[in-house]
Amino acid sequence: MRKVDTVIIGQGLAGSLVAWLLLQRNENVVVIDRGDIGSASRVAVGLVTPITGKRLVRSWRFDEFHRRGIAIYRAIERELGQELYSARSAVRLFGSQAERERFDGKAEREFGDLVETIDPAVNESLYHAPFGGFQMKRAGRLDVPGFVEAIGEWLQQQGRLILGEFDLTKDVREDAGRLVIETFGLSANQIVCCRGFSESMSEDFAGLDFNAAKGEVLKIERFPTCDSRTIHSGGWLADVGDGLAVGATYEWDRLDDQVTDAGRVNLELRLQRMLRVPYRVIDQAAGVRPILRWQRPTIGQHQTFSGVYCFNGLGSKGVLQAPYFAEQLVSHLCDGSNIEPEADLASSSVKASTSCD
Ligand SMILES: Cc1cc2nc3c(=O)[nH]c(=O)nc-3n(C[C@H](O)[C@H](O)[C@H](O)COP(=O)(O)OP(=O)(O)OC[C@H]3O[C@@H](n4cnc5c(N)ncnc54)[C@H](O)[C@@H]3O)c2cc1C
Repeated sequence: MRKVDTVIIGQGLAGSLVAWLLLQRNENVVVIDRGDIGSASRVAVGLVTPITGKRLVRSWRFDEFHRRGIAIYRAIERELGQELYSARSAVRLFGSQAERERFDGKAEREFGDLVETIDPAVNESLYHAPFGGFQMKRAGRLDVPGFVEAIGEWLQQQGRLILGEFDLTKDVREDAGRLVIETFGLSANQIVCCRGFSESMSEDFAGLDFNAAKGEVLKIERFPTCDSRTIHSGGWLADVGDGLAVGATYEWDRLDDQVTDAGRVNLELRLQRMLRVPYRVIDQAAGVRPILRWQRPTIGQHQTFSGVYCFNGLGSKGVLQAPYFAEQLVSHLCDGSNIEPEADLASSSVKASTSCD
């Protein structure tokens, strides 16, 4: 039986961050992942956008999440010797005169520090921009599939990654204060479940209430002189190196990782409203965002096994929010520090919140 401090289940964005942070604390960690090809982290484009939504709002606690996120991603890059997070400007093009006026009314007061330029130069022979727009500071992109792959290889080199499916009810028993996972020959002090949307198929964490949304994205061929900035205009168009990603749909009914004709039509319509030039679709992908009803990353503790935790609910802003909360979970596991009520499944305030904008 291999004795470790922590077993992490799931090596998406959540599990990768928790594993990396625990290993920085010299904890003995093993990760078990079943290798879902359509997991959210393997299809996410990974944008960080400071001002979002139809209502144009500052992203929830943007400054503190961004500060911790950048520090952690940069530290991981140094360790792995690979660039994974790129800071890059984003342009929001207004969809109407009314939207522009809404922005003008609150820009200075609410997000003056996040606005780089009003009416940035956009090549109007390529993009529709009749109402102008603004350019945001501190936007960026994590190559999430690349990040998960790089952390996976790094864990594998250390003999810390096991490919397999974990079932809490069948696989775990308690023995002399330790958690024994017979199937994998492991004994641990604690287990952290980072299973993304798949967690909703189990009933392991009472009260973890999902409102997950499927998302589809297209990839189109780059066209000459395309903008390297991310363009937001009723959807977004982001340079991902080997093409331009177009996203993303939200669908609450069919929660699977299959691409659909309806998804493609939806995204192509947005593209046609955005672009004045022809394009060629080269790829389409789908996955399910692990969104909880209260739209916040959440940390929970199992009711029977007190050493078993979940870290879930990264939603559609996982790149921005996950590092901060992964760090909080790791401090709790290693130092016994408290989980803040807004992220604690046991607290009533987590469920009282309905939006993370
Ligand atoms: C189309 C799309 C676009 C997105 N774009 C963005 C974006 O631009 N910016 C942003 O911040 N976020 C974006 N997201 C959201 C982001 O992808 C998620 O917040 C994040 O990736 C979730 O990570 P996770 O680790 O919680 O879950 P997942 O990525 O789903 O990972 C779960 C892991 O657990 C493993 N697993 C599951 N069950 C088991 C089991 N029983 N045993 C062993 N292993 C198991 C799976 O194999 C998987 O590797 C997007 C999501 C989608 C779908």
